[in-house]
Amino acid sequence: MMERVLLGAFAAVAITVIARRYEVLDESGQWGALAIGILASAAGWPWAGTLVIYFVAAAAITWYGAPTKAARTESSTSPVRTRHLLQVLANGIVFVAFAYRARGNPQSIWGIGAAGALAASFADTAATEIGTLYGRSPRSILTWQRVSPGLSGGVTLAGTAAAVVGAAFVAAIAAAMHGIGLGSRFVAVVTIGGVAGCLADSLLGATVQARRWCEHCNAWTERRVHPCSYRTVHARGIRWVDNSVVNLAATAIGAVAAVAAVGANLALR
Ligand SMILES: [Zn+2]
Repeated sequence: MMERVLLGAFAAVAITVIARRYEVLDESGQWGALAIGILASAAGWPWAGTLVIYFVAAAAITWYGAPTKAARTESSTSPVRTRHLLQVLANGIVFVAFAYRARGNPQSIWGIGAAGALAASFADTAATEIGTLYGRSPRSILTWQRVSPGLSGGVTLAGTAAAVVGAAFVAAIAAAMHGIGLGSRFVAVVTIGGVAGCLADSLLGATVQARRWCEHCNAWTERRVHPCSYRTVHARGIRWVDNSVVNLAATAIGAVAAVAAVGANLALR
C-alpha cells in the first residue's frame, strides 16, 4: 500500500497543481484536494480513478459557461468559483472515509456509501451549474415561489435533470472502475443515493442555510457584501450553516440513502 500511496501522492500533486493554475482550487483548496487524493489512493486505484474523473468532470462543468453563470448569480452568490479548503473537504471527506473503510470491497455498505456520497456531490454541482445556465427562473423547493438564480434552495427542471444524469454518471464511473456491470444494483442504488443527497442539499439550502438580506435592493442573498456595495444582514436560517456545511450534510445523506436503497433483504455480494 505504501507504494500506491506514494504514487497517488505524486499524481495528486500533479493534478492539484494544474487545478490551482486553472483556478479550480485556491491554495487552501489545493491542500485539501491533495489530502483527499492521497487518502483515495490508499483506498485503492479504482477509488482514486473514480475521484479523478469526478474532479475533472466537476471542474469542466463549473468552467463551462462560467461568465454567463457568474453574471446571472451575481446578486446571490460570490462570482469567485475557486474552491477553498472547507468546500473541498465538505465534498470529499465522506467519500474518502467510506472508500477507505471499503477498500477492495466496493459492494459492501461502505463502498456503496462512498459512491453515494460522491454521486451526491456531483449531482449537486451538475444541478447548480446546468440549472444556472439552462434552467429558466428557479423556484424554491419549499414554497415553489420564484427565487433569484444562484440562491440555495432554488430548483429548475434543467438542474434536476442534470442531477439525475450526474448521479448516474458517478455511479457508472465507480462501477466501471471496480469492474462492476453497468446494469447492476450498485449503479441503481448509487444513483438513487446521489439524487437523494442532491435533493437534501436543496431542502437544507431552503431551510437551515443562512440567508442574508440587502436592505438597499430588497433582495435575498448569500453574500456579505452585495454587488450594490451595501453590507447585507443575516435574516434567516442558522448563521454558521453555509454552503459547505450543507454540502457535507448532503454527501452524508447521499451515502446513507444509497445504503438504504439496497434494502435489508438484498444480500450484498
Ligand atoms: Zn444590494
